[in-house]
Amino acid sequence: MNRILRSVCVFTLAAALLFAWGCGASPQNGEATNPPASSIAPAKETIDYLNELGHIEFTQAKNVLLFIGDGMGMNHIKATDAITGGNYDGKLAIEYLTNQGTVITLCNEGEPDSASGGTALACGYKSNRKYLGLNIKREEIRNVVELANSMGKKTGVVTNESIVDATPAAFTIHAPNRDDESNIAKLQIETSAADIIIGGGKAMYDKALEDSAYRQMLLDHQITYATTWEEVEAYNNEGRLIATLTEDYFEKAEEASPTLAQMTEKALSLLSGTEEGFFLLVEGGAMDESAHVSDVMELTRQMLAFDDAVSLGIRFAAEHPDTIVIVTADHDTGGLQPKEQADPYVTAHRAEYHTSEMLKYEAALQEENPEVDLAALPYRFTTIAHTTNNVQIFAIGYGTEIFNGKTVQSFEIGKFIGAALGDESFGAQNKNGLQ
Ligand SMILES: [Zn+2]
Repeated sequence: MNRILRSVCVFTLAAALLFAWGCGASPQNGEATNPPASSIAPAKETIDYLNELGHIEFTQAKNVLLFIGDGMGMNHIKATDAITGGNYDGKLAIEYLTNQGTVITLCNEGEPDSASGGTALACGYKSNRKYLGLNIKREEIRNVVELANSMGKKTGVVTNESIVDATPAAFTIHAPNRDDESNIAKLQIETSAADIIIGGGKAMYDKALEDSAYRQMLLDHQITYATTWEEVEAYNNEGRLIATLTEDYFEKAEEASPTLAQMTEKALSLLSGTEEGFFLLVEGGAMDESAHVSDVMELTRQMLAFDDAVSLGIRFAAEHPDTIVIVTADHDTGGLQPKEQADPYVTAHRAEYHTSEMLKYEAALQEENPEVDLAALPYRFTTIAHTTNNVQIFAIGYGTEIFNGKTVQSFEIGKFIGAALGDESFGAQNKNGLQ
């Protein structure tokens, strides 16, 4: 499926929201805000937790929370702060995580996609584009969900993308082609070790479930298959849960129901409370879609939604110091730059395909919204494609100081998670991440 073309369909709606937002103005305007509504027993406001993170004594982890911003490049956070005023005193919750480093995302073939990027984080291997949970020899490699499951931990995957999209797929199945999404749905039913998978993707599941063998498998594998939030709420935490709550992905952050934070909160309540602990992946996947259509404003709204979910994870870790929280990205999408750097680049490369397409998106967005001066925004995309740019890692929890001030390869984060879950030899054993 062509993700760029698919995103074009929602482009007009994105543009329509721009006017109400305005330029550079923020509904919060840098003030500290309350955390999203939660039943996870908050004893203090999130802003207090954030300021105290450096003083918490984290213990050996039994829980690992991984947040992946799909396509979240080096400037996504700064742009969100500059354009929206941030969530907590002018910043995002993510920025309060005390251990911060840089991540090289290159896959075995160079520029990464979400399949190779997800596989690096899920399995601790550098692999090829389109491969999900396979090494470069196309052999199945264990992912952290399977590892955690074998350790008796509960496991979950939450996304505001389709659950058959590459990132959630890399954590739940093994297949050579990310584009065969109905096959991914079938494999998730048949083989996934995840106790819960919550996101979008109903259309692909409809297709997979046309096959009666897979409808039967839902029963045989004791899978609760939910397509509404009410059905998720009714799930009794026995057997597996697969929830596809929208046809494809959650297109607009401000219209998303449930929000990524609500899905995260639900997952935390379902997975936590056991002696063994849990692994949870939360993907902010929809931000990649905004970057592919050069929509900076929707991107910042998706970033705020992602940050709301992260803030729940941070609060959970602050209350449960045997928890690791890692926030990173699978790759950069869009090459977002401060305007003064982006403008000369765009001018110099305007004849090239990825830049000229970006200019068309910008022009259409501007035409739809004559009342907004897009050129006045402080950040601008430079391409509609993925880039080879580094991304960031933000972390708290036992052992995560090894990332502080360092540059690591993305597969090393997967290996770290494997080790944190109890397997020191998880992932690739050679330095290039291939074997
Ligand atoms: Zn992408």
